[in-house]
Amino acid sequence: KDFRNNVKPNWCPGCGDFSVQAAIQRAAANVGLDPENLAVVSGIGCSGRISGYINSYGFHGIHGRSLPIAQGVKMANKDLTVIASGGDGDGFAIGLGHTIHAIRRNIDVTYIVMDNQIYGLTKGQTSPRSEVGFKTKSTPQGSIESSLSVMEMALTAGATFVAQSFSTDLKDLTSLIEQGINHKGFSLINVFSPCVTYNKVNTYDWFKENLTKLADIEGYDPNNKVTAMQTLMEHNGLVTGLIYQNTNQPSYQDLIHNFSEDPLAKADLQLGKEEFNQLVKEFM
Ligand code: SF4
Repeated sequence: KDFRNNVKPNWCPGCGDFSVQAAIQRAAANVGLDPENLAVVSGIGCSGRISGYINSYGFHGIHGRSLPIAQGVKMANKDLTVIASGGDGDGFAIGLGHTIHAIRRNIDVTYIVMDNQIYGLTKGQTSPRSEVGFKTKSTPQGSIESSLSVMEMALTAGATFVAQSFSTDLKDLTSLIEQGINHKGFSLINVFSPCVTYNKVNTYDWFKENLTKLADIEGYDPNNKVTAMQTLMEHNGLVTGLIYQNTNQPSYQDLIHNFSEDPLAKADLQLGKEEFNQLVKEFM
């Protein structure tokens, strides 16, 4: 199945987000989805444009709110595969509360964050993922705030699928997205996706020098949360691969009584106008 459409991305040449787009398209095809079975919901930022660049249902939401929308889509139609996406500013600053609660809720949505350690769309400000000392127009003397350790945060919040990748590792990233889609619960995939225009520190070369593949760590076991946390701390979070997965915890939908029946979006509510209005009133 072809998940490409004819919309030309307006990302800067060399932006890491191109690879993330390609990886989502490949992963969706590899797991056997049809375009009408996939919804991609995005927030605001350069990466937020991705929902318009994939041949699927797309919803370009508001800043930091891709997850509430994505969860609503999934609750209304459990038959859809739902991918939420956005940048590090979107998901780890204004949207951080939603990220944590979606994690602990373990709702069956795959969240892909394009992490470039900067705000690109607004022309280069320090983000919650920028390191101490990072100089931009918003922190001209260097950031004095420490970078948010998002993978560690996800583990402590109870995440059941935590992975990280680098946008040039297209094969690995595609495989992780496939695993995330197949995971029955919330999956968080943080992708180092360099901003070639504004971030002159965390470049492709910088990541190549600093990232460690978990596959190269002998005996690494992604089912062991303690090891996952220790490894992240030892490497300052700069690892790629499947960090942690717990397949034993039921998803949010699994725990809802009768949720396995027909999706709400397809249900025949058999309500007349008056009954419908009454129902709405009850929820007001
Ligand atoms: Fe990508 Fe940065 Fe250009 Fe935005 S400004 S499209 S993040 S390279």
